[in-house]
Amino acid sequence: MRERRASDGLLRTLADNVPAAIAYFDRDTLECRFANRQYAESNGWTVESIIGQTVRSVVGEQAWAVIESDVERVRAGEKATYVRSQMLPSGEERQIEVNLVPHFANDGRQLGAFVLINDVTRYHLAERSIRESEERMRKFAAATTEGIFFHKNGVLEDVNDALLGILGYSRDEMIGHNTLEFVPSDQHDKISEYIRAGSEHVYECDVLHRDGRRIPVEMVAKTVHRGGETYRLGVLRDVSERKRAEARIEYLARHDVLTGLPNRSFLSERLEGMLALARRHEVHAAILFIDLDNFKNINDSLGHHAGDSLLKEVANRLRGALRDADVVARLGGDEFLVAVGDLGAPGDATRVAAKVLAAVSAPVSLDNRQVYVTPSIGVSLFPRDGTDAEELIRHADSAMYRAKESGRANYQFYAPSLSPAAATDITKEATLREAGARGEFVIHYQPQFAVEGGRLTGFEALVRWRHAERGLLAPSEFIPFAEARGMIVPIGRWVLREVCRQQRAWLDAGFELHCAGINFSALQFRRDSLVGEVAQALNEAALPASALELELTESSLMDAGSVAEKLEALRRLGVRIAVDDFGTGYSSLAYLKRYPIDKLKIDRAFIADADAGGGDGGAIATAIIQMGRALGLKVLAEGVETVVQMEFLRARGCDEVQGYLCGRPLPADEFAAAHLPRRASGVV
Ligand code: C2E
Ligand code: MG
Ligand code: MG
Repeated sequence: MRERRASDGLLRTLADNVPAAIAYFDRDTLECRFANRQYAESNGWTVESIIGQTVRSVVGEQAWAVIESDVERVRAGEKATYVRSQMLPSGEERQIEVNLVPHFANDGRQLGAFVLINDVTRYHLAERSIRESEERMRKFAAATTEGIFFHKNGVLEDVNDALLGILGYSRDEMIGHNTLEFVPSDQHDKISEYIRAGSEHVYECDVLHRDGRRIPVEMVAKTVHRGGETYRLGVLRDVSERKRAEARIEYLARHDVLTGLPNRSFLSERLEGMLALARRHEVHAAILFIDLDNFKNINDSLGHHAGDSLLKEVANRLRGALRDADVVARLGGDEFLVAVGDLGAPGDATRVAAKVLAAVSAPVSLDNRQVYVTPSIGVSLFPRDGTDAEELIRHADSAMYRAKESGRANYQFYAPSLSPAAATDITKEATLREAGARGEFVIHYQPQFAVEGGRLTGFEALVRWRHAERGLLAPSEFIPFAEARGMIVPIGRWVLREVCRQQRAWLDAGFELHCAGINFSALQFRRDSLVGEVAQALNEAALPASALELELTESSLMDAGSVAEKLEALRRLGVRIAVDDFGTGYSSLAYLKRYPIDKLKIDRAFIADADAGGGDGGAIATAIIQMGRALGLKVLAEGVETVVQMEFLRARGCDEVQGYLCGRPLPADEFAAAHLPRRASGVV
């Protein structure tokens, strides 16, 4: 008995000191027969007071409702294990793992059940925090537009929606697949190495969309350890937009936006490459500097939109006329440059230049009109004219100026003697700008006479430049230049006012009033202010409109724009219109009928030819005279130098003549003295 008590005491000590709650309940009555301290106290009892209490009263009604079914299972002889939360008498909530084990007698009868409870609060909290962090991770992954994926040894374990969106796959199509399946094969090595090395730096690569598109991405991966396993967590961002912007910027930096041709900076790069090759293969190369002759006019008269279309058309033609290996670039404005890299002989450049000239000169359809534009082309040759790109371009440029001076619409090769002249070009522009202000322009007057009777019918005003060092310069030495640089406008305005002033002075001095022919460049004619300026000049000098005749070239009349309105306005004003250099321009004569024109001036080239036998020029002069008569226009022959020419014209019924035979251009005073009759009243 004493032994029994001693062993009971030992058992109690043991039971009260294990870190678990232990109890025993009777099967039939469900009354507590034993409980260690932890069990009793965690349920709000003492080890003494709990004895004889039923399970239900031990745990309380709330817990009973939770465990009742488990208790019934144990009464039926089964084991039961469950986790539930338990409210301690202190109000603290714990998670407990309950094990219920039935107790059987030797005869198999069930006597009761052991209860063993472990406090698993700690594990529970740990597990919950993992669950929560995973949940957080998932939400985070769902919220970002960056693609996120987990892989183990390259095999995808998890991906977020953003990645599915970027690649166009469903989750099932990705999970379990190798990452490399979503990467173009040329990037496999790079990516495998990144994974193998466990790298964690940001890098750029391409991935493959489901439809086969390559998508540039910025990628970073980290090695993460989870549940004893090593994973790689990858984050990638679609950088297509940025790449496109970069490519666009790169493109813009190197190309002319309007024509898509390489621009000046890209050109230098390509030229250096081309020249390096030419050097290595010991072949020749040619640089063609191309400037459009009448682009400004088209831009002014048809508007910038048409100007742009024309430039695009020229770019296309240049590209079409050349091989892919040749370089075609736009230098800006109406300047283009062509480089041809592997010429067998320098002479081959002539063929290229002729081809370019023909390609650009073909009429262009703009707004349903035919527009004519011609190029002036300067050619320099490698290695003859220079060994680097810069020098070759400079020389081609100066050759281009010579093409302009040679009447445009042609090509010229660089000639070393050109350089000093080209250098003077620059100073020429500066001095020409100042010439007007310094009063260096003068006008000479050349008389015009009726073929029948020989009386004075008018005269032409011809400008000259009294150059400080070079003496009196003919218009051919600076007018084409002034036209090309737009400086003809202020010069022309000065000529108009000076002629009116002179006419007034002659009138005041008692001379008869005769009509003065003034040359107008296409550029001047195209200006909207033209009619107003003419009216104002007449007004200021108090002259009748019959004091002026405007000489326009055929190209002025052919250019689109408000030609008809302008001519009508001039006609209303009362000034006369002559077509200068007639026969040298374009072949469309339709405008002669349409426009209010008074006079045709046959270009002297045809007259020079009209000696004795007549020649081609004579035939043309004859045709012009006949046509003029048919249309009721006066016809004047320019450059009449010989009596034979005079007789030729007389025989064909030409109305008027102008030329050295009858009178050279003279300064105002000499002209008046030699040719201008005094008014009858003044003579008396
Ligand atoms: P243009 O209007 O055809 O003028 C006639 C040119 O022929 C003048 O040359 C004149 O001196 C020249 N000439 C006249 N008779 C004879 C002749 O019998 N034989 C030869 N060989 N030549 C003769 P110039 O004065 O050198 O003028 C050349 C061109 O310059 C003019 O051709 C005209 O297009 C332009 N020009 C002259 N003055 C002006 C001006 O004030 N404004 C503009 N825009 N152009 C002008
Ligand atoms: Mg003239
Ligand atoms: Mg003329």
